[in-house]
Amino acid sequence: MSEIDVRMKGGATGRVRAGATVGEVLERLDAGVAGQALVAKVDGHAVDLATRLEEGGRVIDVEPVMPDTLEGLDVIRHSTAHLLAAAVLDLFPGTKLGIGPALLDDPRFGFFYDVIAPRPLTDDDLTAIERRMHELADLGLPFRREEVPKPTAVRLFADRGEPLKCELIEDKGGDTVSLYAIDGSPFVDFCLGPHVPRTDRLRAFVLISLSGAYWKGDPQRPQMQRIYGTAFGTRAELEAWMRQREEAERRDHRRLGRELDLFSIHEQYGEGLIFWHPKGGIVRKEMEDYLRQQLLDRGYGLVHTPHIARRELWWVSGHEESFADSMFSPLGSEKTEFRLKPMNCPFHIAIYKSARRSYRDLPIRLAELGTVYRAELTGTLHGLLRVRGFTQDDAHVFCTPESVRGEIGACLDFAFALFRVFGFETFRVELSVRGPDSGKHYLGAEADWRNAEAALVSALDERSIPYRRMEGEAAFYGPKIDISVEDAIGRPWQLTTVQFDFNLPERFGLEYVGADNAPHRPFMIHRALFGSMERFFGVLVEHYAGAFPLWLSPVQVAVLTITERVGAYAETVLRALRGAGLRVELNAGGDKIAAKIRDAQMQKIPFMLVVGAREMEAGTVAVRERSRGDLGAMSLDEFERMALALIRSRAPRTTP
Ligand SMILES: [Zn+2]
Ligand SMILES: [Zn+2]
Repeated sequence: MSEIDVRMKGGATGRVRAGATVGEVLERLDAGVAGQALVAKVDGHAVDLATRLEEGGRVIDVEPVMPDTLEGLDVIRHSTAHLLAAAVLDLFPGTKLGIGPALLDDPRFGFFYDVIAPRPLTDDDLTAIERRMHELADLGLPFRREEVPKPTAVRLFADRGEPLKCELIEDKGGDTVSLYAIDGSPFVDFCLGPHVPRTDRLRAFVLISLSGAYWKGDPQRPQMQRIYGTAFGTRAELEAWMRQREEAERRDHRRLGRELDLFSIHEQYGEGLIFWHPKGGIVRKEMEDYLRQQLLDRGYGLVHTPHIARRELWWVSGHEESFADSMFSPLGSEKTEFRLKPMNCPFHIAIYKSARRSYRDLPIRLAELGTVYRAELTGTLHGLLRVRGFTQDDAHVFCTPESVRGEIGACLDFAFALFRVFGFETFRVELSVRGPDSGKHYLGAEADWRNAEAALVSALDERSIPYRRMEGEAAFYGPKIDISVEDAIGRPWQLTTVQFDFNLPERFGLEYVGADNAPHRPFMIHRALFGSMERFFGVLVEHYAGAFPLWLSPVQVAVLTITERVGAYAETVLRALRGAGLRVELNAGGDKIAAKIRDAQMQKIPFMLVVGAREMEAGTVAVRERSRGDLGAMSLDEFERMALALIRSRAPRTTP
């Protein structure tokens, strides 16, 4: 029998008989590793451990994929998705299966499977499914791969009553397809693999939630249920993830939004539409006040534009062509058709075009808190984070080629200053540029692209901002910078985009008269810093877990009386602090002081001023801070000065 030379990548070499499995090869080369490996790369190509090596006439490189690598995690999550589907089929025969990919970038989920069960699944079903998954895992059932001709596979799934799988197979090129079964379970899937060798390699997983999904994301196609779960290489990693999730749930802006009376969503009036309550409205007002003052200080003009425009505008802008799926249907009046705006850009362009512009007028920076509407799919909506109507802190900068660099730098400085004021200290920056692949068609002149990309790079380098360069990720109409902030528990939130646009200036024929007296096309930069007021507010609520810094707090001070006898004095305190511009509430009711403190604490009010007979006589207040407790007695003046200084400096924490 012939033999094959094998080599562990960067390690031992050996010889095995032809037809040995990859698992046996690992065993021969490094028994310790063999027990841990999930799959292996053979000459760089990931395959199942059960794959047989045939004679090669040369040395074959083998590299184990271990559970503590990203590739290993991918295999675990992907294989667990199969285990999930097997358990669903076991418990709900007749279920039709869609797709079940692993997710590596979403901190909330590790995989999902889309299914249409004979009856809609409930959260209780998830518990039963998860239990069944553990049973199947304990049985140590092998994953088995088989290559079959495409028509055979289509027939197989047609017989099994799985039309969606047939569609997936027919969409795929090639003559043969690979199928994966879990032996001892009714489940077979069409899949490229690879997978873990046996189900008992899957030990650390949970199911998380159910949501709606459409087949192929298309609302015209069957509605499915998406079962989300996650999986890790070890129990310890899963437990760490579960602790993080509990912390995230404690901070969930939807829950805090209710508890702190910040906002509501009324599904009967439309999903994805936000109703800001007075307390949320205060936070928004503070965000807006700060932003507007900054915009004016930084040379922006503040504009207001309509919420609708004639369809013709959206044809010129190209939105009717390329963005129509995200726009609400046209509205009619007097035979004219209008559309709700999904973006503000064309309106700012209209303002730019309202006069003849000279190079001396540039840069022109137009900013608007512009409310836009997008027809997001119901299944994708999520609290304040994904909505259908939202207000962008949108701006467009029109400038000459010479001032591009300075403008980009100014946008970055603005963004980072803003984030620091709102308590974010850690950032992730991505630069999206053209790729080496010249097949992609980019609009705009070569020289303009070079200028734009150089401006983005030098703005980052001059500020020593670390960033990831994303080759080939630029939009066809221009390169961009994206900035994410990391919140208090380390989750990234993508907020800011600074984006060049070589498309709209062309479509709208934007011009300015240069120093040479000839017409030129201006550079156009879109930039939103918060992104959307709704989303940023949601991120803020979670970042602070509802305990806003003093300057943002809806109620900044609660005056709490110990006895009803000090009611008049408490009123004086209330009036004095309100007079100084603080947002103050008085609780002069009959409850015990401990209950009043607990209440204010629950409402996350930064300062509690406790007043009793002693304070009344001395003309003082006993100051409590929500996270540091008792700060002792202060005169009213003293407290007022401290609070106002904190507010004026927009201190991110309530630490005097
Ligand atoms: Zn698979
Ligand atoms: Zn824009």
